[in-house]
Amino acid sequence: KPMENRISDIGPRKYDEFLPPVIKKNYGQWLYHEILEPGVLMHKAESGDEVYSVRVGAARLMSVGLIREMCAIADKHCGGHLRFTTRNNVEFMVDSKAKVKPLMDDLKSRKFPGGSLKFPIGGTGASTPNMVHTQGWQHCHTPATDAAGPVKAVMDEVFEYFTSMKLPASVRLALACCLNMCGAVHCSDIAVVGIHRKPPLKDHAVLDQICEIPLAVAACPTAAIRPTKIEIDGKQRNTVAIKDERCMFCGNCYTMCAALPLADAEGDGCAIMVGGKVSNRLSMPKFSKVVVAYVPNEPPRWPSLTKVIKQILEAYAKDARKYERVGEWAERIGWEKFFEVTGLPFTHHLIDDFRDHAYYTWRQSTQFKW
Ligand code: SF4
Ligand code: SF4
Repeated sequence: KPMENRISDIGPRKYDEFLPPVIKKNYGQWLYHEILEPGVLMHKAESGDEVYSVRVGAARLMSVGLIREMCAIADKHCGGHLRFTTRNNVEFMVDSKAKVKPLMDDLKSRKFPGGSLKFPIGGTGASTPNMVHTQGWQHCHTPATDAAGPVKAVMDEVFEYFTSMKLPASVRLALACCLNMCGAVHCSDIAVVGIHRKPPLKDHAVLDQICEIPLAVAACPTAAIRPTKIEIDGKQRNTVAIKDERCMFCGNCYTMCAALPLADAEGDGCAIMVGGKVSNRLSMPKFSKVVVAYVPNEPPRWPSLTKVIKQILEAYAKDARKYERVGEWAERIGWEKFFEVTGLPFTHHLIDDFRDHAYYTWRQSTQFKW
C-alpha cells in the first residue's frame, strides 16, 4: 500500500480496514445483543442487520499451524474476518443466522490428535470466559510462576463452566506471573498472581560488567540496595549490598540488573485473590483481595492451584444469588463466612486490600468478626 495514504508510517494499519462489511456498515448503530446459546451472540443493528458471533476458547501462545487453521475457517465461513478478544477467545462472525450452524459444525468437528476439541465453543454470559494471562516463563524476565501452563490446567479443570452458562454470573479468571501484574488480577473475580518470597541473589563476579549500579539502586522501592565494593581474586570490584529484611521481592532491581536474579524453585509460587470486578452492575467496581497467601509451583499440571480455584468456584456456584459476582457474594455473606464455605484456612496475611493506613486496616475494624 502506498505510504502517502497512511496516517503514519509506523504502527498497525487503521483498524477499520479490518472490520467485516456488516460491522463497518452499522458502525456505532447497534441496538442490542442477545446470547442465543453458550458461545453464540447475536447483535442487532438499527438498520435491521444482524451479526452472529461464535466464540471459541484459544490459547494465548499458539502455533502458526493453529492460526493458519483459524484463518482458513474465517475464509470459508466469515468472508475472511475473525477477531481475538482481550481474554484470548476467538470470535468468528457471520452476517446471517443460516451461516451459524455450518460454522459451528465445522468448529466442533476439528479435534487435536488426542481427541480434545480444538475450538471449544463457550465463554459467554454466566460462564468462566477464557483466562486472561501474562507472559510466564517463556517470555518475561521476572515471573514467579508460569502463565500458559497453570492457565491451561485451570481451564481444563473448569471446562464445564466455559461451555455452559450455569454459574450465578460471569466469573472472570486472570493470572499475572509477577506483582508487576500485566494481567487483570486486581479486578477479576478469581485471580492468580505469581509471588517471589526470597531476595535477589547477587552475582558479584559479573555485576559491575553488566549493570549500571546507580540504576539498580534507584530501582528499589524500599531502598534496600546500596553500592558497595567486594574483593574478588585480589581485585576491588564494584557491586551492591542488599538489606534482605527491607526487600519485598518485587524484582524491580532484576529488571535493571541481570546479575540480581530472584527466581527460586522453593521461594516462588502463587497467591490467589478473589472478588475484583470492573462492572458497575449491582455494586461499584471492586479490587480483589488475597484469600490464599501461597500455593507452590507444581508444573506441569499445578494440582494444588487448580484444586483451590475449583473449591472457590463451586462454593460460589452453590451459594451465590443469580447475577451476584464473586465479590458481591463474599461481601453479602461476610468474608468470615467466605472462608467457612470455601473451606480455605484464614491467616493474618489475608483479605486486606491495603487501601487504608497500615495501622488501620479493615480486618482490625469493629466490622470484622474474628
Ligand atoms: Fe513479566 Fe510480571 Fe508481566 Fe508476568 S506479570 S509478564 S513476569 S512483568
Ligand atoms: Fe528492592 Fe525489589 Fe530488588 Fe527487593 S526485589 S531489593 S525490594 S528492588
